[in-house]
Amino acid sequence: MHENVEAAAAVSGWTPIAEEAARATRLLHPKHDLPKPTRRRVLTVANQKGGVGKTTSAVNLAAALAMHGLKVLVIDLDPQGNASTALGVDHRSGVPSIYEVLIGEVSLTDAAAVSDQSGNLYCVPATIDLAGAEIELVSMEGRESRLKEALPTGALDQLNPDYVFIDCPPSLGLLTVNAMVAAEEVLIPIQCEYYALEGLSQLLRNIELVQNHLNPNLQVSTILLTMYDGRTKLADQVTAEVRKHFGDTVLRTVIPRSVKVSEAPGFGQTVLAYDPGSRGAMSYLDAAREMAERGFGGE
Ligand code: ATP
Ligand code: MG
Repeated sequence: MHENVEAAAAVSGWTPIAEEAARATRLLHPKHDLPKPTRRRVLTVANQKGGVGKTTSAVNLAAALAMHGLKVLVIDLDPQGNASTALGVDHRSGVPSIYEVLIGEVSLTDAAAVSDQSGNLYCVPATIDLAGAEIELVSMEGRESRLKEALPTGALDQLNPDYVFIDCPPSLGLLTVNAMVAAEEVLIPIQCEYYALEGLSQLLRNIELVQNHLNPNLQVSTILLTMYDGRTKLADQVTAEVRKHFGDTVLRTVIPRSVKVSEAPGFGQTVLAYDPGSRGAMSYLDAAREMAERGFGGE
């Protein structure tokens, strides 16, 4: 429950007692005042490095925003289907999924399922059928923009989400390119570990390629530091380096390493549903608040 309280205090300048009071207030008033974006925000959660917290961040930020009354859609674009699992959404082979959406068989709205964790939270699941899509897409017309084509054109009018999070697989293949073409924002989770920055320049180069050739509106709007372990010096070094490089793009909130966060998907839940009072849940609530309050594109 109180893991990394010292670390959190060090980061935020708060004392543990202030922390506890704030926690109680936020739990008592989960819905107070999160601004609705003036227009829909579509974020691609990408990092080709595996296991850095892409899925965890996508589903928990989504759940946090939904908890504040905003409507959120998570598109699971990873054949592993981890986001679908965490949101408690059926993703057995055969259910309407993002695969059928990409090949044009099903509309996005028809593939979206409501999460059992919130009436405001929807998920388009990924089934194992998506595993072949990287290859199948190669020969398809408009292969980089299949998801973009499925997103507007009234397809989302029924759901009308305020936020859309697209959870990418750990690669820079066609699925991730589709996500970057369909979104305006990229959210990059960075794990506070030694190799965290490796591969980041490759990711940024790919984003630049997409900007130059496929989607000039794309921007890295948000960087989120994840799995921060206050017991290691290294975590602070990585944090400082990332902040030096990326400045205000990095959220002030840092997600601590927390057992509760890693246990939650095993119960088909986000950490906000699994243990809403835990530090992991609170830090995702804080990160979501920061994102919502910052807005995007001057809005
Ligand atoms: P992949 O590249 O395979 O899609 P990913 O980038 O989506 O991985 P996650 O699946 O979100 O990464 O996280 C990787 C592992 O680390 C998971 O087992 C997850 O439960 C765990 N994890 C994520 N965030 C935390 C955290 N803050 N504290 C502890 N464990 C975490
Ligand atoms: Mg993942």
